[in-house]
Amino acid sequence: MSEKEPKVTDDMVVSMAYVLEVDGEEIDRADEDDPMLFLQGHGNIIPGLESELYDMGVGDSKEVTVQPADAYGELDPENRDQIPRDILPPDYEPMIGDPLELRDTETGEVFQVYVADLDDENVIVDFNHPLAGETLNFQVKIVDLRPAQSEELAHGHVHTHGHHH
Ligand code: ZN
Repeated sequence: MSEKEPKVTDDMVVSMAYVLEVDGEEIDRADEDDPMLFLQGHGNIIPGLESELYDMGVGDSKEVTVQPADAYGELDPENRDQIPRDILPPDYEPMIGDPLELRDTETGEVFQVYVADLDDENVIVDFNHPLAGETLNFQVKIVDLRPAQSEELAHGHVHTHGHHH
């Protein structure tokens, strides 16, 4: 037939099943019947994985090992800060590991941080991603591929049913 088999290229919407292991332990997965969707070439996923997917076709599998620098960065143990509990919403009870968004009141910049420790008055927040410093082992399988729509390209992300932002 004349139709060319689609391959992973920039601006393709990729449906991907994966298993993510760190130190031999599974920490995340998406199965083939509920794959992760993302727009290739737009930094939707970590760079060390995105770069390994080019030219894969539907049904192809691959094992990909990603070093910290190409994943969630090196771990910087100094990169912590203490914030008073009373700047958090009063109805929020922080738990270790919770993600928080902090806004720098001077620059307006928003930081994603994680609750590392707690006492009665303060929360120690960690600016490192929980997977910083970790080598990630992915087993990936391409489940589906389609060209992105122009609106998706303009936004730089995939639009799924009933979900637009
Ligand atoms: Zn959008």
